[in-house]
Amino acid sequence: MIPEQYRNQRVGVNGYRVLNLDLDGVCADYSGALRAYLIRHGLMDENVHPSEDRYELYQASGWPFRSYEGYLATHKAAESEHLYATMKPIDGAPEALRTLASNHVYIRIVTHRLFVSGQHRMVVADTAQWLDEWNIPYMSLCFTGLKDSMQATVHIDDSPSNIAALREMNQHVVVFDQPYNRDITGPRLHDWSPSSVDRLLDWFEHWPTEGGPEGIDGPSRRT
Ligand SMILES: [Mg+2]
Repeated sequence: MIPEQYRNQRVGVNGYRVLNLDLDGVCADYSGALRAYLIRHGLMDENVHPSEDRYELYQASGWPFRSYEGYLATHKAAESEHLYATMKPIDGAPEALRTLASNHVYIRIVTHRLFVSGQHRMVVADTAQWLDEWNIPYMSLCFTGLKDSMQATVHIDDSPSNIAALREMNQHVVVFDQPYNRDITGPRLHDWSPSSVDRLLDWFEHWPTEGGPEGIDGPSRRT
């Protein structure tokens, strides 16, 4: 039952079930789409599966990037081929987000996709198109890298540095499981299955504390 004061969706910093949701690596398969771009252009062999143990692709083995600048140039070229309109969702994400929205979760998408300048119009339009095409419900769409400037009831992110910055601000962050964030403790979603959605809805009401009865999903435990 949604509390009376939140029925008109005037949710604020301390609002009811406000979810700040990252896109790349959480809802959208960014690295898979970039890999597909590289293969399509003959820049990567299709049999190569790069290492997933580093969040920064230019530091992970198997990618053809020799520097951060080289990675940015490739990223920008892929963006111009509508990377953000065509990437695959992470399995189950659109369905899970529809379930969350129907359970009065205010979904605020917070993404750092404007980190390369010059084609922001395309990035914003492609992102909105992708969200529409996958029928993903959301109330706000925020483009910012300053994730710790945006408060919420719960955040979901995959980036080790974003998770650390948000926790530094005493925000509740759920780690979306990826190989490069497995050493981070605290609540973790391994996928967008119905049972993951149930756990997340529980966490909105009762944030798990260390040593509490619901426990904290450690880095290696899978449910
Ligand atoms: Mg991400």
